[in-house]
Amino acid sequence: MSATVMDGRATAATVVADVASRVSTLKRPPKLVFVQATDDAASASYVRSKARLAAKAGIDNETLKLPPTVDQEGLEATVRDLNVDDGVDGILVQLPLYPHLNAQSILEAIDPAKDVDGFHPENVGRLWLGQAAWAPATPQGVIELLDRHAIDVAGVNVTIVGRSMLVGKPAAALFLQRHASVTMVHSRSRDMVQHVRAADVIVAAAGRPGLIKREMVKAGAVAIDVGQSMSDGALVGDVAPDVAEVASFVTPTPGGTGPMTVAMVVKNTLLAYETRLGPNA
Ligand code: NAP
Repeated sequence: MSATVMDGRATAATVVADVASRVSTLKRPPKLVFVQATDDAASASYVRSKARLAAKAGIDNETLKLPPTVDQEGLEATVRDLNVDDGVDGILVQLPLYPHLNAQSILEAIDPAKDVDGFHPENVGRLWLGQAAWAPATPQGVIELLDRHAIDVAGVNVTIVGRSMLVGKPAAALFLQRHASVTMVHSRSRDMVQHVRAADVIVAAAGRPGLIKREMVKAGAVAIDVGQSMSDGALVGDVAPDVAEVASFVTPTPGGTGPMTVAMVVKNTLLAYETRLGPNA
């Protein structure tokens, strides 16, 4: 058996096309503002790719690049200005920040209604309460990828490898909402292999290349690879390539969950606009 490869680029393009078609009917284009308080080259490249895709969907976007001299108060003031700007629908503070800045208090300064990244404690809490909330884009992209491949997770065993606030924890909340039986494993788990073997759906988000091996995967399982690491100049995932010989579905790296993450930021901006403006959208 050879797994079906879930094409994240093609699926992301479909999501963006759907957003673009809705945006074309709105009174004004939604607006997303990126706040970039870092010199990190990878972060700058993530912001550029999100900005490109937002533009493709007809979403206005602006990047505020702050100098290394910006202090905590300056950054928080920037965020507060965006909170009260009625023309701004989504705010995305790209992490990591310059090392002297405190990320948590900046994330808490964002208006939860404009928090398209879903990191504000109010959105985190709402997500776990099962209320309407912005969820972080990466696990949301995982769910969208499954939905768009008609994979129903109700009642199935999902094992999530990794427990970060960015991926593992919100993924667990989203899968629980979909009625999956969720197991989370992490670096301190004694029996990761056993939990992965029991899974119908594996979400690998550890950032450890090839951590999930063929012999750990049940025949017919779905293997979603979130991990992204550089190895010998190439981007590689946490799921070993030969897992495709036993799984029913796999995601490629690159071209799997990465493009879906970017597409979900774009989708969330449209949803933030619609939620704020209600019937006047
Ligand atoms: P993180 O904050 O470093 O968290 C990694 C998690 O994996 C931690 O919970 C850690 O356990 C666990 N872990 C590490 N080694 C492990 C092992 N050998 N066995 C079991 N669990 C292990 O990273 P992150 O931000 O969640 O990102 C995870 C990966 O996803 C990275 O490769 C990142 O580049 C990638 N990523 C991809 C996308 C995308 O769009 N595809 C988006 C975001 C991140 P402890 O908690 O015990 O330390």
